[in-house]
Amino acid sequence: MRAVDRPDAAELLRQGLPNAEVARRLGMSPRTVRAVRTHLGLDRVTGRGAVTRTLEEAYRVRTVPLGDGHLGWAGARGGNGAPFVRFGGRRTSAYRVAFRAHFGREPEGVVMPVCDVKGCVAGPCMDDESARRRTRAQLAALMGLGHRQPTCSQGHLYAETAEYRANGKRECGACRVQHRQELKAVAA
Ligand SMILES: [Zn+2]
Ligand SMILES: [Zn+2]
Repeated sequence: MRAVDRPDAAELLRQGLPNAEVARRLGMSPRTVRAVRTHLGLDRVTGRGAVTRTLEEAYRVRTVPLGDGHLGWAGARGGNGAPFVRFGGRRTSAYRVAFRAHFGREPEGVVMPVCDVKGCVAGPCMDDESARRRTRAQLAALMGLGHRQPTCSQGHLYAETAEYRANGKRECGACRVQHRQELKAVAA
């Protein structure tokens, strides 16, 4: 099998995808893909991962364009269906890698996609905890929940402590932490 006979496979192999992934995507036998790789003179892929130098690259080579900037995932998934990147012997959430690559900072808390495209792993479509809090605050304003009271009943400034539930309702983060510590003290 010559590379020129299967330019589609040759292209994916050049992008760094492992043989098994190329075979799966194009419906080819792994044996044929192996032959194309040999013909191209590309390095053998060790283990099951592609030859990649950075975590971000390991993420990038397993994404599939879905149009309008959204990206699908052709890589591994955990038992809960969440996409992950295998790199340097470790597993990292593909959502986290996408978030860091796009926003240039460490995400805060759990990262999740917020666009309407099912299974999307594109960086701009990710939100972390702080982004979701902002979104909920905007939702609260939209719903006319008001939230004019500047402090909670304990006098904590909402401007500093506010946390928003998924429905836009506000609660005091300082009180929540305090309450949790009290419960711990009782349990101890
Ligand atoms: Zn998306
Ligand atoms: Zn409070």
